Amino acid sequence: MPDQAQKLVGQYGVIGNPISHSRSPLIHQAFAKQTGIALEYTAILAPLDGFEASVAAFWQNGGRGLNVTVPFKAQAFALCHNLSERAARAGAVNTLIFPADSLQPILGDNTDGAGLLQDFAFHGISIHGKKILLIGAGGATRGVLAPLLAEQPAQLLIANRREKTAQALIADFVDLAPNTAFAACALDAIPKEAFDLIINATSAGLSDTQLPLPDAVIHTDTVAYDMAYGSQPTVFMRWSQARGAKAFDGLGMLVEQAAVSFYLWHGVRPETRPVRDLLRALP
Ligand code: NDP
Repeated sequence: MPDQAQKLVGQYGVIGNPISHSRSPLIHQAFAKQTGIALEYTAILAPLDGFEASVAAFWQNGGRGLNVTVPFKAQAFALCHNLSERAARAGAVNTLIFPADSLQPILGDNTDGAGLLQDFAFHGISIHGKKILLIGAGGATRGVLAPLLAEQPAQLLIANRREKTAQALIADFVDLAPNTAFAACALDAIPKEAFDLIINATSAGLSDTQLPLPDAVIHTDTVAYDMAYGSQPTVFMRWSQARGAKAFDGLGMLVEQAAVSFYLWHGVRPETRPVRDLLRALP
């Protein structure tokens, strides 16, 4: 194990609203222990109208990096002076890297897509040639669209409560979908036909809200994936399992995207398997 005294001690955190449910502090502390890097990682609740001020205060107090979660990924994108290619493409940022020198620009990246695909690989979920229903059109969806389309699904339908937001995503990403039937609709206008894979990328589950989905979209061969997670199966997972589908939560994605953020901040790739196991063993 590396000598902790030789490693940089830094302040990191995850910022969102709500934030108390977040497992990110546990994950980053586990990665830190595994790699021998000394750091502080805390959960920060930002007021809904106070994201930018909260970020500025964190940076001024010596903060070196933040993960950004619901509902601030678009605002994080807007405040970055320098963006990775994938964050620029997504129009959403989930990882902020603060330079020690305040005259240098803040760098924004997006590790959600890499995390999702890594977790799909872990579960053996394939995308190529599949018919996919992606529900939600917020920051998480923006982060995963490019890597999903790169796998060339046969169809990718984005359904969102506010249809306009979903339609805007089609306009932004259609150039990446030459071999995919890529379309958007309102949540209450999803066609009554079966999908191979349904991904819930809404924050509805945070308030235990059941999405109004038609039964026809799911069958026993459908894979249901909820980006949300909790100590119990989510509402969407329970709905899917009750219809005979296999369902996964987003805990694996969370660990995998965190590992990529950890690498961006510390230059070290942590092992994710032990941290997945650790989280699954929690009550
Ligand atoms: P945003 O706030 O950016 O977007 C929220 C989305 O959820 C919007 O599409 C919104 O629709 C929709 N929504 C919210 N409430 C409801 C509701 N009651 N009924 C239907 N739709 C609703 O959040 P993010 O995109 O950043 O995150 C979405 C989810 O993904 C969260 O649960 C988050 O925790 C999870 N996530 C998990 C990750 C992981 O690593 N496991 C990584 C990233 C996200 P509208 O546009 O109409 O308001």
